[in-house]
Amino acid sequence: MSADMVIGGKLRPASDGGVLDAWNPATGARLDTIPDATTEDVDDAVAAASSAFASWRRSTPGERTALLTTLADVVTAHADELARLDADDNGSLYREMRRDVDVAVFSLRYYAGLVLQTHGDTVPSEPGTLTYSVRRPYGVVGRLIPFNHPLMFAASKIAAPLAAGNTVVIKPSEHTSLSALRLGELVADVVPPGVLNVVTGTGARCGDALVAHPDVRRLAFTGSTATGRAIQRRAAEVAIKTVTLELGGKNPLVVFPDADLDVAVAAAVRGMNFTWQGQSCGSLSRVVVHRDVHDAFVERLAARVGALRPGLPDDPDADTGAIVNAGQLDKVLSYVRLGQEEGARLCTGGERVTDGGLADGLFVRPAVFADVDPASHLAQEEIFGPVLAVLRPFADADEALRIANATSLGLTASVFTRDLGTAHRFAEDLEAGYVWVNEVGRHVPGTPFGGVKDSGIGREEDLDELFSYTQLKNVHINYGR
Ligand code: NAD
Repeated sequence: MSADMVIGGKLRPASDGGVLDAWNPATGARLDTIPDATTEDVDDAVAAASSAFASWRRSTPGERTALLTTLADVVTAHADELARLDADDNGSLYREMRRDVDVAVFSLRYYAGLVLQTHGDTVPSEPGTLTYSVRRPYGVVGRLIPFNHPLMFAASKIAAPLAAGNTVVIKPSEHTSLSALRLGELVADVVPPGVLNVVTGTGARCGDALVAHPDVRRLAFTGSTATGRAIQRRAAEVAIKTVTLELGGKNPLVVFPDADLDVAVAAAVRGMNFTWQGQSCGSLSRVVVHRDVHDAFVERLAARVGALRPGLPDDPDADTGAIVNAGQLDKVLSYVRLGQEEGARLCTGGERVTDGGLADGLFVRPAVFADVDPASHLAQEEIFGPVLAVLRPFADADEALRIANATSLGLTASVFTRDLGTAHRFAEDLEAGYVWVNEVGRHVPGTPFGGVKDSGIGREEDLDELFSYTQLKNVHINYGR
């Protein structure tokens, strides 16, 4: 039995009956199939969203708050089921996917509470005139999301556009669509038809049809830098579209000798997000350590990472899960080989796990490389897997900063130091959209998340995300006094 898409409030398979398989990467079992949407299906979803916009744009703030609150309630009521779908579909640990559901619920409630913030300004003008601005929704928002946090992105990334009065067509990753489809089914009765549509299929057909649809003027994409560039290019071929991009990272963690070494080592493990197999945009995958503490740091880091235990999603003692699909597994393993060819030192891990009942799944033992050349592929390219690169040590702050900033990406960064001056200097000069000092990974609710350079355009998880789904219109009235 295949899960269905939601188009115009109705549950539908692909118009040509096409499906894609959904696999459990931890066990190799086939879970289900998902609709492989045709271009016509996407056209239908956009048409439904366009027609629903006519009334949704006139919904009251109270109605929008109520809808988002209801969505949060529905997700809460099905939290365990949705987390289970994600854990089975993408190989991550169940407890982590369950936390993702809570993040999504928080986001829905957060934007439910911000609906009234979509106001404009009055601007002083000449006597007999009144000048004011208003924020207006775009219309249909096309929302494309990646595989790593399926439900969290499906539920939380619809909150701001709906709060601002837009209608949405969301397309999850073809590798992890089950929870988004279930979410669509669960809320089909509570969302006005066409306000939220869920389409599934490949990026090349379903995603492209959404990006290239002339009636979708606002696109928001979370995914890889390569796809982000392709989307920006494709959108520009069709019309002037507003495109925001949350893309990849190759994020530096800088460790000064005055930092508590054990704290910094533990943070490096946490910041790499091995709990999600390193499959996180914000992972601090490039560690830069001062030469005075470098060797001790690498030794302790390798010991800690070497002790991490891959396991099935339900295993409460597992530290890391399975890689999402065979293509991603090959990519990770090929970077491990490349690192060795480039002369980096593999300190631990990096091999496929075939023991402990994991032989049928796509498991890789978390890897640490040391002596990595800062200019090498291993140091420059996002692997999006459990491979942590410790670069050659630095001698002073200038060198550390130069190495940290020497990539085309700029999503997150972290510095460990007890020196206030160094902390502020790095907070100022690190080329990243989100900087942590003596901290890793934490997204503080309501703060702007997003990248600089090739890591993206725009900020999310804050008030600016809500504003980004509105366009300002100015009105000047001459009332002729
Ligand atoms: P991806 O770019 O391969 O795919 C993302 C989505 O785009 C999927 O739904 C896919 O089907 C679709 N897509 C692919 N090609 C397309 C095309 N030509 N036209 C339209 N849509 C297309 O990314 P992924 O492998 O699913 O996810 C991993 C990437 O996402 C990593 O690079 C990671 O850093 C990034 N990411 C970024 C953030 C952030 O907030 N900055 C968060 C999570 C993940």
